Amino acid sequence: MKNHYPIVIVGGGQAGLSLSYCLKEKGFDHIVFEKNTIGYSWRAKRWDSFCLVTPNWQCKLPGYHYFGDEPDGFMQKEQIVQYIEDYAKSFAPPIKEGVEVLSVRKLSSQGGFALTTTIGEYTADIVAIASGSYHLPKIPLISQKLDKSVVQLHSSQYKNPQSLPNTVLVVGTGQSGCQIAEDLHLAGKKVHLCVGSAPRSPRRYRGKDVVEWLDRMGYYDLSIDEHPQKDQVRAKTNHYVTGRDGGREIDLRQFALEGMQLYGSLHNISDRYLHFQGNLQQNLDGADAVAESIKKTIDGFIDKNQIQAPIEPPYQPVWQPETVVAQLDYHRVEIEAVIWCTGYQSDFSWIEIPVFDDKGYPTHDRGVTAQEGLYFLGLPWLYTWGSGRFSGIARDAGYLCDRIVASQQLLQSIT
Ligand SMILES: Cc1cc2nc3c(=O)[nH]c(=O)nc-3n(C[C@H](O)[C@H](O)[C@H](O)COP(=O)(O)OP(=O)(O)OC[C@H]3O[C@@H](n4cnc5c(N)ncnc54)[C@H](O)[C@@H]3O)c2cc1C
Repeated sequence: MKNHYPIVIVGGGQAGLSLSYCLKEKGFDHIVFEKNTIGYSWRAKRWDSFCLVTPNWQCKLPGYHYFGDEPDGFMQKEQIVQYIEDYAKSFAPPIKEGVEVLSVRKLSSQGGFALTTTIGEYTADIVAIASGSYHLPKIPLISQKLDKSVVQLHSSQYKNPQSLPNTVLVVGTGQSGCQIAEDLHLAGKKVHLCVGSAPRSPRRYRGKDVVEWLDRMGYYDLSIDEHPQKDQVRAKTNHYVTGRDGGREIDLRQFALEGMQLYGSLHNISDRYLHFQGNLQQNLDGADAVAESIKKTIDGFIDKNQIQAPIEPPYQPVWQPETVVAQLDYHRVEIEAVIWCTGYQSDFSWIEIPVFDDKGYPTHDRGVTAQEGLYFLGLPWLYTWGSGRFSGIARDAGYLCDRIVASQQLLQSIT
């Protein structure tokens, strides 16, 4: 192997592969370094029954749109991994698996970058970081106060109900928390769930999947600059909904009717007690209000465009909390495992170039940083809603590829 490449892509997930595809199409020499294997995050960091929340038709990798017979379905974990592996096979990217990039530095004398990897030192004119954004489990410090006998894991480590004891506490109700709680609940486990402030989305409404309505309404083309919340939208928790069994809503109130124990947010642990905030009612109502507001927006679109669509009856909450539970003796109710569905934090500490804000987030404009030749790809809302997902990565990879090509042409015209 040579030790200089014009372009190095760090990460062989869907983002890194997409950029590799675009560069290869234009005949640009490059290499992809992947710490693990192609599609590793989908294979290793998702639970057994995991399936996409976004419909299959949104899997639009550059040059490789979903072509199966269930465009409105939701691929299961193995199918997602297969889709990405098949994508790689379809264009044979120049990828080195099992190679971690340990550091990226600016070369001081001339332009370009120095990379230390697990197989040696490299230099590159251009570096594109496509290492994902869900790097480190975010687990609150109060977790350390739990009794040692309680099994603790993060959502990225959860695999299946069989591997856990009978009574489980799930903390957090983002997409992962709700789906994991449901997975355990359906398997007959006794589930205690701390409900946070995550919003909820309807699945189908007025005859179509909500994603299809939002697509028609142009939501997925809305850039971050046009979004009313601007940069702040990047930190927002995803709406909970599921693709399981062909796709359906998640209604935590229904789970409660079926025996799941719901509480407000977990705010402390002391001795043998879990302490909750008194916000269960507020969080359930808040999630419902978001779901209703999505429906209202769709109603407005339907009216404005005079679309024929069936009318749906208004949502009726099937359960209300009767009392506010402030604390729970977790030994008494025999909680033996806790799953922290409390999110992730990104870790770009190995990039020794000052392009980060005080929270460690790379400052960029559509993935282009102030450091010439350094790019990011695949981050949530890098440019649109789909940037950190299957649906928008082709657009972002195409854009970065064009920027890279333009920068190289400029360089050639100068030299
Ligand atoms: C629980 C969960 C559910 C999701 N559900 C959906 C969904 O339904 N639909 C949807 O469209 N999106 C979904 N996403 C979002 C997104 O599609 C995935 O996070 C996807 O994995 C992002 O692809 P990526 O290529 O950007 O990052 P990743 O898939 O994480 O790939 C990054 C790669 O970089 C490698 N890497 C990291 N650091 C280095 C290094 N220093 N050197 C070399 N290699 C490195 C990693 O091994 C990894 O393979 C979900 C995300 C999560 C966490």
